[in-house]
Amino acid sequence: MAKRNPALTAALLPDKRTLPTLRQTLRRIHLTIIACAFILTGVSLSALSLLALKNYAASNLELVASSVSISARGVLMQNNASGAKEILSSLGQRGLFAEGIIGDRQGSIAQWQKATPSHTRSLDRVLGRWLFPDPVRVPVTHHGKPLGFIQITGDAENISHYLRLAGIWLLGCLLTMALMAWWFSRRMHHGIVSTLQNIAAVAHDVRIRRAFSQRVPSAPIAELNKLSNDFNSLLDELQVWQHHWQNENDLLAHQAQHDAMTGLPNRAAFERELNLRFAKPVSRLRLAMMFIDGDRFKRINDTWGHAVGDEVIIEMARRLRNALRTGDMVARLGGDEFAILLADIDDEEQVSSIAQKILRAMDEPIQLPNDLALQQSLSIGVALGRDFATPQSLLMQADAAMYHVKEMGGGWYLSSACWESPATASHYDARNAVGAVK
Ligand code: GH3
Ligand code: MG
Repeated sequence: MAKRNPALTAALLPDKRTLPTLRQTLRRIHLTIIACAFILTGVSLSALSLLALKNYAASNLELVASSVSISARGVLMQNNASGAKEILSSLGQRGLFAEGIIGDRQGSIAQWQKATPSHTRSLDRVLGRWLFPDPVRVPVTHHGKPLGFIQITGDAENISHYLRLAGIWLLGCLLTMALMAWWFSRRMHHGIVSTLQNIAAVAHDVRIRRAFSQRVPSAPIAELNKLSNDFNSLLDELQVWQHHWQNENDLLAHQAQHDAMTGLPNRAAFERELNLRFAKPVSRLRLAMMFIDGDRFKRINDTWGHAVGDEVIIEMARRLRNALRTGDMVARLGGDEFAILLADIDDEEQVSSIAQKILRAMDEPIQLPNDLALQQSLSIGVALGRDFATPQSLLMQADAAMYHVKEMGGGWYLSSACWESPATASHYDARNAVGAVK
């Protein structure tokens, strides 16, 4: 047994997966880019700022310690513990440090510590420990002789406040950037996606409705605009082809339903119309059919030639058409045979007047080239739709009525007799007939 090729099978099977749209795909890509940029920028900026801040805070604390050491020199020389405490508390209350100690060579003589409120955030404490892991200790000297020391521990409260504001500002900037990037990418998507959607919509409509007259609007992007123009050119060509095929089809359909010589509907078109009208009871009950044949037509062919015979047939067709009302139909069945469907017939009087009108129309000689004028009479057999169960029996009865009247010397003849089959056609009952025999 032949082995199946899985790749080929997969290619032939319809794709049941729901594929993402172009807009969704582009959106996903841009969202990923924006998110990555957002995170990278945010993290790097935050890390760099924190490092810079840590360095700055350490230098600042050392600077504060140095300036305290200068102020403390006097109080150490006088061994003034309360003065030392005052220096520490006045500087400490300005937020320059969280804890300060002034000591002489023996040890601490004054100490100040910032009161830590119970609600101090743990983040602040962590930040404080990270920014100022160790207290700064500087010696206090006078003319090179050591007097004592200053030791201070940094205060993270102000920095933490600043960091919070900077963080909010940074977040705001990043969010604004992200929103702007999102807005610009949406605008770009719109240009690409709407153009492709236009092309797809037109292609779909062309496929479903054969609407070749549609065109894709121009696109704001050069490559897509070229694609739209090429697609429109293709539609131009398809429209020309469609027009051509439509005309060909119309012509063929017309040829299939019409007689080339007279332009009248042919036998097939006539039978189709007869069946249609017969199928509707309302129209069948008021339908009359005429079967018409030229009398001794062959002699025209034999005497004047086939071309003259054709001219006579064409003129017969024209006069028949002119004698009818709107809604009636005349067809050429072949040779010198015509058939007429009369609509809205309520009584024999109407049939009579139309039959006589047709016969009168043929009274006038037919003018032909070379000053030839020929008289062509007709024999008309009529049957009514209400008397017959099938279109075939109606046609047959009209035909038989025509033969009858031809045998009687021409004119028109209406019969209501009904034959069940062609085999019984000879049972035609002339007693049922009304009409005029010449
Ligand atoms: P009848 O009075 O019994 O109707 O005899 P007819 O001479 O009219 O002859 P019939 O109706 O039996 O036959 C019609 C003739 O018409 C047969 C054929 O030679 C001729 N014919 C058929 N088609 C054409 C055509 O297209 N052009 C011409 N000129 N003659 C045709
Ligand atoms: Mg004839």
